[in-house]
Amino acid sequence: MSRIVVKVGSNVLTRADGKPNVTNMSALVDQIAALRAHGHEVILVSSGAVACGRGAITPSRQLDSVASRQLYSSIGQIRLINLYNELFGGYGIVVGQVLTQKDNFASRDSYLNQRACMFTMLDNGVVPVVNENDTASLTELMFTDNDELSGLIATMMDADTLVILSNVDGIYTGAPSDPGSQLIACVEPGKDLSAFVVAAKSGFGRGGMGTKCGIARKVSDEGVAVIIARGDRPRVLVDVIEHPDSVPHTLFEPSPRPLSTLKRWIAHSGSFAKGVVHVNAHAAEALRNDRAVSLLPVGVTAVEGEWEEGDIVTVLDADGVRVAMGRASVDSATARATIGTHGHKPLIHYDYLYLE
Ligand code: GLU
Repeated sequence: MSRIVVKVGSNVLTRADGKPNVTNMSALVDQIAALRAHGHEVILVSSGAVACGRGAITPSRQLDSVASRQLYSSIGQIRLINLYNELFGGYGIVVGQVLTQKDNFASRDSYLNQRACMFTMLDNGVVPVVNENDTASLTELMFTDNDELSGLIATMMDADTLVILSNVDGIYTGAPSDPGSQLIACVEPGKDLSAFVVAAKSGFGRGGMGTKCGIARKVSDEGVAVIIARGDRPRVLVDVIEHPDSVPHTLFEPSPRPLSTLKRWIAHSGSFAKGVVHVNAHAAEALRNDRAVSLLPVGVTAVEGEWEEGDIVTVLDADGVRVAMGRASVDSATARATIGTHGHKPLIHYDYLYLE
């Protein structure tokens, strides 16, 4: 049995006129039901709320982008979830809605709370249908897109595989529309992809291939296989899991060295870091070369920001390049007082350090 997170984009779930694409949605539900019948656990991360709401109402006056996102998502989300409920109901499968936002991943307590909730759902045979809480998210604190959200969910839930269903077959060596471009079947851990990615945005969704690639790399580095495939191919979801040779896709192979849940959380908390710790060349080298070393005050050259013990901080080298992130074992005042000195406890203990 494996645990699979499936992310489906707005372009697959909605039609150009902003109505739900019932054909694609019911094909998706059929396949999730088939995977469950074969013993897999499935979590669905579904976009499409905003796109679907847009087709349902014409606002009485011109709205700014925040107000229209809130209005459309409030309407579209229930349309989507009602359809999922009905379609899964046809298989006797119970669905539950999880609406979340970035701050729920910022503190460890809310992260673990959310994680526990979703495990309870899975233990009870419920399919979690996850989306960003677009009515409440603050613009500056939104997920880049649901690709980012699905990556967070996949690592948080210790998934074996994240499948991102998009409107292209995967990552190409050039623009997908260019006949000379080739689909990259497999991306090994550490392979440099920057030359290939065409950061073209598509249709209604917020994401593009650039973000997909970045997320896929990060999530696979954390031990989860990531598959990018085209969502409107018949049986694509079942095939990429059970007969991968029969369907075009890009696989990001999982890194053989999965991180602990704590380190995964730290790895994804970059945007919540409360402070910055600058280290000298010697400390940066030690951190980069020895994967089991703690950050000691002696290697610290400067400290920025105010934080409490337990908050996340970013570690930068002398050139300002990020070396690591971690959970500080002392507050910022103590960190400042011990800059460059010996004989104090580590500023970040190895167990709480996530190296780039
Ligand atoms: N949460 C948005 C929605 O459901 C989608 C975000 C995205 O495009 O990835 O409409």
